[in-house]
Amino acid sequence: MAKSITELLKSGVVIGDGGYLIELERRGYVDSGSGREEVGTGRGSGQFTPEVAIENPDALRELHREFLNAGSHVLQALTFFGTREKLNRAGYGADTERINSVAVKLAKEVAGEKALVAGSVSRTQLTEREGMASLDKSRDHIAEQIRLLKDAGVDFLILETFFHLAEMKVALECAAAAGLPAVATMSFRPLITKCTDGHTPAECAKVMADLGAVAVGANCEQDPKRMLPLLREMRGATSVPLAAQPAAFRTTEECHSFTRLPAFPDDLETIQVSRNEFIEFGKAARQEGIGYIGGCCGCNAAYIRALARGVEESNKRL
Ligand SMILES: [Zn+2]
Repeated sequence: MAKSITELLKSGVVIGDGGYLIELERRGYVDSGSGREEVGTGRGSGQFTPEVAIENPDALRELHREFLNAGSHVLQALTFFGTREKLNRAGYGADTERINSVAVKLAKEVAGEKALVAGSVSRTQLTEREGMASLDKSRDHIAEQIRLLKDAGVDFLILETFFHLAEMKVALECAAAAGLPAVATMSFRPLITKCTDGHTPAECAKVMADLGAVAVGANCEQDPKRMLPLLREMRGATSVPLAAQPAAFRTTEECHSFTRLPAFPDDLETIQVSRNEFIEFGKAARQEGIGYIGGCCGCNAAYIRALARGVEESNKRL
């Protein structure tokens, strides 16, 4: 295994892992917030937070093992929504240090020498609730989490599921200040044409690359087919490798994001896409300029195996 994400990206298409929170919610270990509040609005208090790391570590360890076994070159520590800001609202603020450090420890334990470990850092949700004036507060929370992840020994960061480019810029600045390489992926909703603060995918790609991201792209919200046009737009705007971690849920012409569809979160099984779509996506990775490919919500190990198979088939054709 390469020592760094930069070396790994140079060696071929990097296979990431899948979505942890939705899979662990299905297995009964993560709280979706369903029935208690309106989810998917950004105003939620406790849904989809990563306390499973300290409450049911064996469940998390097992999912890491499944992804590794399916072909992942990188395991993400389950630190998504792990800023003190989000954890405070879920009642776990006092456990912020422990959740982040235990999540990294579990991922490293399973990865051993076989995979790199990435710290996952996502939006704080402050911008959704309080607007752009809250960016300084976001900076403090994101910087704190990145410090915890660095202390715990992550190899690099995956900055993911940011809706506002302005907050992504803050996160990239914090990553650079900490001296950690970062893969940066925005999430586009409700449509793939622009992010929440109004920037096109091409603009996002350029800004993220200029701020030093080692790969730029998109994650979550769309199924592979729906995500592809926005990735192509990004491809035209930058020369760094693309990163793509699509969701495994079918979206519609009118709404390109599954978290805005009525099926979220209780009827997701009704819009699940088949793993075949991920085999095809894996096959296309190289020609689309995708250097880092994985899955997000709805992708368990079967989907990662499908991606790895697709990439492998296209490698054979080289
Ligand atoms: Zn997702």
